[in-house]
Amino acid sequence: MGSYMNNYFTVQTGFYGNTSPDRLLEQFGSPLYVYNENILRKRCREMANLVPYANFKANYSVKANSNLELLKIVRSEGLHADAMSPGEIFVLMKAGFKPEEIFYVSNNVSAGEMKFAIERGIITSIDSLSQLELYGRINPGGKVAVRFNPGVGAGHHEKVITGGKKTKFGVNLDLVDEVKRILKKYNLKLAGINQHIGSLFMEGDPYIEGLKSILSVAEKFDDIEFLDFGGGFGIPYRKQERQPRLDLDTLGKKLGDIISSWVKKYEKEVIIKIEPGRYIVAECGVLLGTVYAVKKNYGDTYVGTDLGFNTLMRPVMYDAHHEIEVYKNGKPVSTEVLEKVNIVGNICESGDIIAKERLLPKIEEGDIIGVMDAGAYGYSMASNYNNRLRPAEVLVRSNGEVSLIRRRDTLEDLVRNFDL
Ligand SMILES: *Cc1c(COP(=O)(O)O)cnc(C)c1O
Repeated sequence: MGSYMNNYFTVQTGFYGNTSPDRLLEQFGSPLYVYNENILRKRCREMANLVPYANFKANYSVKANSNLELLKIVRSEGLHADAMSPGEIFVLMKAGFKPEEIFYVSNNVSAGEMKFAIERGIITSIDSLSQLELYGRINPGGKVAVRFNPGVGAGHHEKVITGGKKTKFGVNLDLVDEVKRILKKYNLKLAGINQHIGSLFMEGDPYIEGLKSILSVAEKFDDIEFLDFGGGFGIPYRKQERQPRLDLDTLGKKLGDIISSWVKKYEKEVIIKIEPGRYIVAECGVLLGTVYAVKKNYGDTYVGTDLGFNTLMRPVMYDAHHEIEVYKNGKPVSTEVLEKVNIVGNICESGDIIAKERLLPKIEEGDIIGVMDAGAYGYSMASNYNNRLRPAEVLVRSNGEVSLIRRRDTLEDLVRNFDL
């Protein structure tokens, strides 16, 4: 551990701009989500320019984080967006996205939800034959996309593998004739085909491999306008071990080669889309919390914080690893002696552990804990469980200044819907 430096990531990136964790918590309260604009813009650009192909488009998958200010930044970088629900469509339009910049990837939705997108002129991807029938009945003669399941999946955890034989998603590849029959019956135009095989791959090859089937399915349809290869681009969660990044240069070149030879064969420069969610927002977000208790229970050390799993579900839900930084009121943190600890929250469940058995600098009451890579699936999965208030969100702008971009819940918010 010679090169171990606890706050490596935030120092290296100048994460906190002109301010610091202790000043942020003093000003905005604890816990707090902090986002860095420079990092967000950098990740947007990497995805927008991933493939050297003129008709390439990165669609940000907004379920990872739908803060309005962050969405505006993503849009200003030229990305389009994916929505999974009418609520996400609503939020995207509030952030300024135009209907033609939104793709609705639906899954088991009502006629009303389909109409929500149709009325706004937003293209919808359909996930089953029965939903394609429904779509045909309510929008005959319309344009539609179909999500196929290539029979293979990939991902860091069973719960986020979304392609393959044991998942609920997509239309089986052997149902192409049925899809054609329903399209014809309702005079629907198939605008595009999409897939999403899973989340958080760190090697590009399974993703590339997964494209073979979508490309061969696409060949069975004339005049496709777009193909959407899905998201799942991973980020290095183990930053303190210097985990390597996904090799975008190699992946981009391989994608570029596949795309250019395919469009030649198809004889049409179709639009190619990808759907990164986590890759865009994970690393621009840190979740800050405060240490209120340190104790030993039968030999194990527990650091008790206000970071319950209502603020970050990933460790509990996916056994996810998030790196921890320790801050001591602006004073430097010594890493000479490390101690094995469990960082836990304030929710009334034993599973409420945000970081298990980590070697960290000595932590005391009043210290601040930073949870890295909390920008994706952090706030968007946060809840009011235990009637906790969801934290505020602040943005460290490119000029180093900080702005509040969503206020903390209030106690009144907890009873607002009882106002009958
Ligand atoms: C969740 C999701 C994504 C984004 O996944 P990431 O792992 O965050 O990149 C993209 N497309 C679809 C259909 C999804 O459900």
